[in-house]
Amino acid sequence: MQKMTTLKGGCLCGAVRFQWRGESVSASYCHCLDCRKATGGPYTVGVGVDAAGLTISSGKTKGYTTVADSGNPITRQFCPKCGSPLFTKAEVCPDRVWIKAGSLDEPELIKPTHQSWIGKAVPWAYLDRDLPSYAGNGP
Ligand SMILES: [Zn+2]
Ligand SMILES: [Zn+2]
Repeated sequence: MQKMTTLKGGCLCGAVRFQWRGESVSASYCHCLDCRKATGGPYTVGVGVDAAGLTISSGKTKGYTTVADSGNPITRQFCPKCGSPLFTKAEVCPDRVWIKAGSLDEPELIKPTHQSWIGKAVPWAYLDRDLPSYAGNGP
């Protein structure tokens, strides 16, 4: 049995606060163009968790849906007040949610294990070259 993990986080202005509690956490880098545009950074780090364990303790998010490179509709949720990206949801995986690692109060609790859409990585996105990398979405 894996141990229970609690992750807490929120947006820049503090209007949206959330907590996640559960057993299974995965984290990875995504280099796709949409993640780059949506975060304003060279890549995003998504923390994949069980959607049932996520509680929004204050505030409300807004969502923006696009069709991803994978062909699936992806909704990115953000704080409507300050614009901080918070969560990503995919219709094809309704039980899963990806928390933006940068929104966590203690981002050191997670450890990205692979990189997705490596062919789209910008040359100045310096990351561990030994990490498993995938042309599309990883496992
Ligand atoms: Zn905010
Ligand atoms: Zn992406």
